[in-house]
Amino acid sequence: MRFPDRTSSTKIRLKMNTTIVKAYGVEELGERVKELTVSRREVTAKDIEIEILFCGVCHSDMHHVHGDWGKEKYPLVPGHEIVGRVTKVGKEVTKLAVGDLAGVGCLVDSCQTCDSCKKDLEQYCLNGSTVTYGGKDKHSGEHTFGGYSEKVVVDEHFVLKIPANLNLAAVAPLLCAGITTWSPLRHWKVGPNSKVAVIGLGGLGHMAIKLAKGLGAEVTLFSRSPNKEQDAFDLGADAVIISTDESQMNSVSSKFDLIIDTVPYIHDVNPYVSTLSIDGTLVLVGYLGGLDPILNTVPMIMGRKSVAGSLIGGLAETQEMLDFCGEHNIVSEIEMIEMQDINEAYQRMLKSDVKYRFVIDIASLKK
Ligand code: NAP
Ligand code: ZN
Repeated sequence: MRFPDRTSSTKIRLKMNTTIVKAYGVEELGERVKELTVSRREVTAKDIEIEILFCGVCHSDMHHVHGDWGKEKYPLVPGHEIVGRVTKVGKEVTKLAVGDLAGVGCLVDSCQTCDSCKKDLEQYCLNGSTVTYGGKDKHSGEHTFGGYSEKVVVDEHFVLKIPANLNLAAVAPLLCAGITTWSPLRHWKVGPNSKVAVIGLGGLGHMAIKLAKGLGAEVTLFSRSPNKEQDAFDLGADAVIISTDESQMNSVSSKFDLIIDTVPYIHDVNPYVSTLSIDGTLVLVGYLGGLDPILNTVPMIMGRKSVAGSLIGGLAETQEMLDFCGEHNIVSEIEMIEMQDINEAYQRMLKSDVKYRFVIDIASLKK
């Protein structure tokens, strides 16, 4: 059995040494993100210890800090777009060696025995995957802490290899924004004959454009922000539709095979469903919760159209995406910040004023 039962895990918890590391996070709801310390478990046989060099800032980090998704475990240390260098490996580790570059995304553990895990869909682990922050560490019994910190210790199965030719800081956002958009592109078999649309030009949206273009698709951006039009073309979009302009929306009626909706907050999905082709799918990756106004089934039934959802991606698929990015020279467009600037970065993210992903230089945490 891979993980010890409750009794033995208690024994391990008592024996387990931990290292105290500097981090940034919150100790209760409503706080500004601030410096604190957390502990990292010692490296077990299958673990890799990574000195974190850069960490991307996902809109999900802000949802957690703001309590948008319900009760959190505190202290909460966000960050699930982690890249760094291996500093220690357990005795059974084969994937990476000390000195190698390494990445960690949104998952740090799963049962690895259920049907989902066996199909490389660890994100849908039927026994509950362990997320990078706010999950339960099966080894230490503590909850998990994310990448706004100096170090992380992760089972090698959940550590990714980083293509050496890419700018390391600009790779960090691939670990969440990249895989979250890559997974639906692959699942719905996007290729050179596909017509793809992306809703929202932010962290996920800009990666969706780059990856869909990389797969050879024709790509359209739906945005509320006319000032982002030129950027969208520069990122590779073939067309931009301003979603508040009804005549522009009508011009793309029944056009798209796949729409990736990255909007983080409640919004009307119905106008976008009308732009799906017969058999087209709109996949929600941004907003979690009930829709308002309600979803009108008429265009879905009349055109065999689907509205679906998708959560990040499995480990094999994440490695596939990273390798694809290495081959096609695809990285995120980033704005580097210091750890101390994180609260201002969140404020800018709320105003959709990010071009197109903040990445924290973790060296600033050590100041
Ligand atoms: P982001 O960088 O803030 O980008 C979101 C974009 O959506 C904005 O740039 C804006 O684009 C548009 N937008 C924002 N508020 C809107 C509103 N009220 N109505 C309509 N459009 C709006 O966020 P992100 O990091 O890409 O994350 C997007 C969402 O995906 C978040 O909710 C995040 O939690 C979620 N997420 C999900 C997964 C998953 O596995 N499913 C993984 C990672 C993140 P325009 O200015 O172009 O309109
Ligand atoms: Zn994320």
